Amino acid sequence: MGAFWHPFADMGEVSESGEFVLHRGDGVWVFDENDRRYLDATAGLWFANVGHGRRELAEAAAEQMKKLAAYSSFGDFAVRTTLDLAERVASLAPLAGAKVFFTSGGSDSVDTAAKLARRYWHELGQPQRTVLVSRTNAYHGMHVAGTAMAGIPGNREGYGELMPDTAVVSRDSAEELRATIERIGPDRVAAFFCEPVIGAGGVYPPAEGYLTEVRRICREYGVLFVADEVVTGFGRIGGDWFASGRYNLDPDLITCAKGITSGYLPLGAVIAAGRVAEPFFRPGAGVWWRHGYTYSGHPAAAAVALRNLDILEREHLLTESKRLESTLVRELARLTEHSLVAEVRAGAGALAAVQLTEPTLAPNLVKALRKQAVSTRVVGAGAIQISPAFVMSDDEARLLADGIWAALTDLR
Ligand code: PLP
Repeated sequence: MGAFWHPFADMGEVSESGEFVLHRGDGVWVFDENDRRYLDATAGLWFANVGHGRRELAEAAAEQMKKLAAYSSFGDFAVRTTLDLAERVASLAPLAGAKVFFTSGGSDSVDTAAKLARRYWHELGQPQRTVLVSRTNAYHGMHVAGTAMAGIPGNREGYGELMPDTAVVSRDSAEELRATIERIGPDRVAAFFCEPVIGAGGVYPPAEGYLTEVRRICREYGVLFVADEVVTGFGRIGGDWFASGRYNLDPDLITCAKGITSGYLPLGAVIAAGRVAEPFFRPGAGVWWRHGYTYSGHPAAAAVALRNLDILEREHLLTESKRLESTLVRELARLTEHSLVAEVRAGAGALAAVQLTEPTLAPNLVKALRKQAVSTRVVGAGAIQISPAFVMSDDEARLLADGIWAALTDLR
């Protein structure tokens, strides 16, 4: 075993069983070092929306790096490419008067949004509004605020109390959100963090009417609504750029990352509605938000993001991800006939999960799938993740479902 310490891994086990080493990709396919190909069911970690092996994204990065790879964006410094990306993202986001704060990834975006929510109330003369509410099964990244808000208990264990003033409510219960706000005191709650479709917690599309109701409750109590769209953003929800658009959420903040560059370089963003940004932009108010990262708005990443958005538009990939939503619903439905499958969750964009009746079998299914030349991973409690690149054809989707069926049959 070499020196690499894998994230999210039992390194004792990886040391014994070995690593799964990949070296190139093409569309929905990835290739190991023996050039054996695997159907990439997950688009990496839900990010390769335009598929792998896009030379023009590498070229966009190279062009920018040859001019000016990176600089500072603190204070009044900027590089034009980053400014252009902010305008483009603001124009795509379903938020009035959007302002875009760049980060280096999803966890950065979540922690930025958590601090921004608290700081917003501070600027409005309500500094006691500090409580951040999240949901069971939620995954909001691995920085301190995101970990403190985790709705997957294992992700919070072993660190002591990371952040005061957080609360977790049941995934589908709008009533519990209301009761929790009432119990804590509406004047103490800063924000509600919500993945419109739960991702890493198991892929749970929203229960009928749930999002409309929690949005209404937040508005009623003046609680900021933060849509964590790290997974659902940039077309993954199918047909729309953001789940906030599809479900008509009008959020106060959107956190995003992943699909903004299709993962070709690390980049994230917090998109703030104009009404939330306003206290920070007021001339003469002297509000200096002391927050940001060395790589906020990294120009090479911004150049890749701009080209990635060009590809999504030019190849009508939002329409394709909507098509893929129906294809996945259709192709995966037959898996429910298998005795080891409890349910298939699909129907919210290019996102799905196959839930096993016996959750402990899921890691074995992932291994059996590799033998069938399919790459995926476990999400939630004993489900496997399906979130392919939007360029997946109907034949490839059929191959994916056939591969899962064959691997399930191998397990028995
Ligand atoms: N928020 C959500 C909803 C995510 O799914 C993720 C990552 O999967 C994150 C935040 C964290 O993003 P990153 O891993 O880029 O830090």
